[in-house]
Amino acid sequence: MSAVRVRPEDIFNCRRCGDCCRGYGGTYLCPEDTVAISRYLGISQEVFKARYCVMSGGRPMLGQAESGYCIFWDGLCSIHPVKPRMCRKWPFIESVLTDIGNWKAMASCCPGMKTDLDDEIILAAVRAYLEDKGG
Ligand code: SF4
Ligand code: SF4
Repeated sequence: MSAVRVRPEDIFNCRRCGDCCRGYGGTYLCPEDTVAISRYLGISQEVFKARYCVMSGGRPMLGQAESGYCIFWDGLCSIHPVKPRMCRKWPFIESVLTDIGNWKAMASCCPGMKTDLDDEIILAAVRAYLEDKGG
């Protein structure tokens, strides 16, 4: 008998409220993100970093607009096709597997995340998602 597979949509449905794009977000960029976004914007990586990023712990992170939202928020994500890995994976991130408390903390600012489920269901869905996407 095979185990029941938990689908991502069983534990998360984005409401497109934009709340995750507001605040000092800590949206870190991996080198591939920097290349993809710079190319999408048609500027060099150096100009991209100087214009749109702040450095934190030696790593580039997306900056914040005066509105308090991510610098690329314009009613929706203006770089959606190339948005950073962190934004694409949300909320299916590795740290949930090491501490389920992270899911609950993240859910406090994301109405799309379900919290009325057993921890095992949430963990199974996050694990399956990360395995499918190659981590
Ligand atoms: S806060 Fe959650 S529900 Fe709202 S846009 Fe972000 S991911 Fe979607
Ligand atoms: S890159 Fe897009 S999805 Fe990510 S925080 Fe900025 S506006 Fe939101």
